[in-house]
Order: sequence, then structure tokens, then C-alpha cells
Amino acid sequence: MQDTIVLYPSTGMGHLVSMVELGKLILRHNHHLSVRVLLTTSPHEPSTTTSYTNHITRTNPSLTFHRFPPLSTPQDTSPTRSGAAIAFEFLRLNTPNVLNALQSISTTSTIKAFVIDLFCTSSLHVASDLNIPTYYFFTSGAAVLVAFLYLPTLHKQNTQSYKDLTDTYFHFPGLPPIRAPHMPEPMLDRDDPAYHDFIYFTSHLPKSKGILTNTFEALEPKAIKVIAEGACVPDAPIPPVYYIGPLIADAHGRAEGGDGGGTVECLSWLDAQPSRSVVYLCFGSRGTFSAAQLKEIAIGLERSGKRFLWVVRSPPLTEEEVRTRSSGRYGEPDLGALLPEGFLGRTKDRGLVVKTWAPQVEVLSREAVGGFVTHCGWNSVLEAVYAGMPMVAWPLYAEQHLNRAVLVEDMKVAMPIEQAEDGFVSADEVEKRVRALMDSEKGREIREQIGKMRKEAAAAWEVGGTSRVGFTKLTESWNGHN
Ligand code: UDP
Repeated sequence: MQDTIVLYPSTGMGHLVSMVELGKLILRHNHHLSVRVLLTTSPHEPSTTTSYTNHITRTNPSLTFHRFPPLSTPQDTSPTRSGAAIAFEFLRLNTPNVLNALQSISTTSTIKAFVIDLFCTSSLHVASDLNIPTYYFFTSGAAVLVAFLYLPTLHKQNTQSYKDLTDTYFHFPGLPPIRAPHMPEPMLDRDDPAYHDFIYFTSHLPKSKGILTNTFEALEPKAIKVIAEGACVPDAPIPPVYYIGPLIADAHGRAEGGDGGGTVECLSWLDAQPSRSVVYLCFGSRGTFSAAQLKEIAIGLERSGKRFLWVVRSPPLTEEEVRTRSSGRYGEPDLGALLPEGFLGRTKDRGLVVKTWAPQVEVLSREAVGGFVTHCGWNSVLEAVYAGMPMVAWPLYAEQHLNRAVLVEDMKVAMPIEQAEDGFVSADEVEKRVRALMDSEKGREIREQIGKMRKEAAAAWEVGGTSRVGFTKLTESWNGHN
């Protein structure tokens, strides 16, 4: 029978792309294995998923998808439930499909490992009952892994919702202090079922056979040390953690936002700019700003006098617009209406605004780009490290505040942007940080430091490099060599 590895990503293109990259990595180094990716079927799935999975199967014949049937009972997706709670619930309802899939795949293949992402914890026991070794693929860095491993302990130490602990700082082992309201959203409110799902997930992390993490040792030595010392889970052993990054998705997988017609335009525009002269601003696949914040960024950029490439998304719909469906602006941003009058004309010789999506990995590799204003999503961080690109850290949601703290205070590869209590950033601050990133001594130091990390990232995957060695150890255990 064929030896196979089964991967189970959560819903959403970002999770799928990361898991597929892991599958491709496994196949590149283990020609005798096949990879099956389990896919849920959701009524809200974008059409891009199918074109993406078709492309992957065409270009990677040993990687196939196992599609679940739709859920037989409709799920409660009322707006009062948080997105995370809905995702956890959806995956929980899919547990019978996981069981069927694992049993059906087992009739023709030997499942050497089952790799799940964090939202899929509800399927851990299904695989254990079938004696299939189950691993987590943790797509954030080691610092976030420290915090997540420590969460069940933190849960016992507190009784209030973290959103209400505005003056409290949490001290996770080996990490800079984090303000309680800066924890990832699903953790903020004890009345949100997702909070309890998170505690459930984090308390199960140590029960897996191992944790694959998309980072590398030289980038996060402090966090990796405290994990190894067992400081994050005081009362239980934790399984082996394999640091196998940086794993960076190829360009095709990244076309999730569509290219807004801007890919060719923005790359050829960059190629016409002087070396290291352009600051690139992009806030991930979900980062949006209010119209007021967009105007403020525009004013700051204009005043900075620097060249820029800026990815602008439509502002989020207001509650009123969602309720009445009164807005036509579900799609691309109307730049003329959103940006200050005359801004595009006045900056046309030194700035380019692209709508919704830019080919980020390619942008960061361009000679013209000299700095990156980022929301600190972990993929963006790794892509910046891989390209040796100094950052301004402007966190928005999820675990990004935590990432900001380590990027600025430990890794020293980013400078922070000052945000008001509600996250708002003034035009003055944008101007100041953009100038500092591109021109100051501090900016130069950050560039030097991230240049070192870039070399370390490459070294991690060379023969004898830490990620390569860790990954080989893992796959050898699947192949029965230890
Ligand atoms: N991305 C991109 N172009 C964009 C916005 C995002 O290519 O205009 C890619 C980016 O390169 C990264 C991913 O989308 O690989 C975003 O992942 P990240 O973890 O940084 O943030 P998230 O979108 O999950 O918040």
C-alpha cells in the first residue's frame, strides 16, 4: 500500500495555501510518499478555491484533494456569533466527514501522519482512535506558540475578559510583555464561545504527536528556548516541536485577492524606480481601514516626500450598511472618493496606489523596494525576512500585536508605529515613520539586522541547516527510521 500523509487545513484560502505548501515540501523531500488534503465544503467558499486546487493537482500529481460533502444540517451563522466561533463549529460539525475520509483513505493507503491546523482540533480524537499519529501545523511563529501553550495556565489565573483588563500586561515566558486587550480577538471575550474553543485547542496542543512550526531557530531563539525548557506548559510534557520555516507560498497560491489588474503594472512601475527608494505598504489579505484612516495615511505619505507603493482595500462596511445592504461598495475601492482630493495627481510621479492586491512576494524581492509598512501577519513577516526588508510594524488583528512586540523588541527587525487606543494612526506619525524607516540611523540598523536574518533564513534550509535537520528528523520518523 502507498504511504500517505493526510493534511487537514481549516477553512479559508490562507489556511489552505499554507497547508498545500507543507504538502509540497513533504513531497519534494520524500518521493515515495503521497499527500491527501482534506477539503470541507462551505456555502461561502470563493470560486478561486477550485481554480487553485485544480492548478495544484495539475502541477503536483502526488498531491490530491479529498472533498467532503456539504454539511447535512445548516449551521447557525447569525452575526451575533464571532467568525472564529463559526469556524470552530463548522469544523466540529465536519468531524464525521473526517472519520469517513480517514477510513476510506486507509483502505488503499497507509496513513503515516495526519497533520491538522489549529481550528481542526475537534478531529484529534478521531485520528487517535484510529491510531493515526496526529501533528499540528502551526502557521505562526514560535513566540505565538509560547503564548498559546501558556493560555490554559493564563485562563486559570484570570476570571475577567481580557478586553476589560486594559491596564494589565501579560508576561509569557520568554516574551516581551503584552497588553491584555492586544491578545488575539477570539481570546478577548469570555462570553464568546470561540474563547472556550481556543482554550480547548491550546490545551490539546501538547497531546499531539508533534508540532510543526513555520519559523526557524535563528529568528526566534528566545521563544524556542523556553518551549524546549518546558516553561510554557508547567504541568505536562510537550511533544517534539519541529521548526521547519521559512515556508513561503509561491506566487500562484497568493492570487487569492485577485490581482486587481495591477500585477504587471506595479512590477513594471517598481522596475522604473531607483534602488531602495520605495516604501511598500500592505496590510495582508484582510486588513482594512476606515475612510478617515486612509486619508490620514495618504496625507502622511504625501508629506514624507518618499516614493511609495500602497495597496488600498475598501473600508469595512458599517453595521448600518451590513444590516440594510445599502452600500454598493462590496468590491474594489473607489480611490477618487476615498483619498484626499488631488492626491493621486500630485503624487503620480513618485507613488502608485494599487487596488486590493499586489503580488507581495515579488514586490518585496524588487530592487526598488527599501521598506515595508506591514500589519505583522506572520506570512508577511517571513516574506519580509526572506527578502531582507526592514519593516514598520502596524498590527491590526489576530496575533499581530504579539508579533509586533517580538519583531520590535527581540528580533529588532521593525520599528513600531504609534497607535491611539482605538488603533488610529495620525498623518504625522505615518510621515515620521516612513522617513525614519527609509533615512534614519535606526532604519539602517534594522536593515542590517534583517539582512543577517535573511542569510540565516537561507542557511536554515541548506544541508545541515536547522530547519532541514528538523524536517528530516520528522519525516524519518514517518518512514520508521527512529
Ligand atoms: N498578500 C499578497 N498581496 C496582498 C495582500 C496579501 O500577496 O496584497 C499575501 C502575502 O504575501 C501573504 C498573505 O497574503 O503571503 C497574507 O498573509 P499574512 O499572514 O501576512 O496575513 P493575513 O492575510 O493572514 O492577515
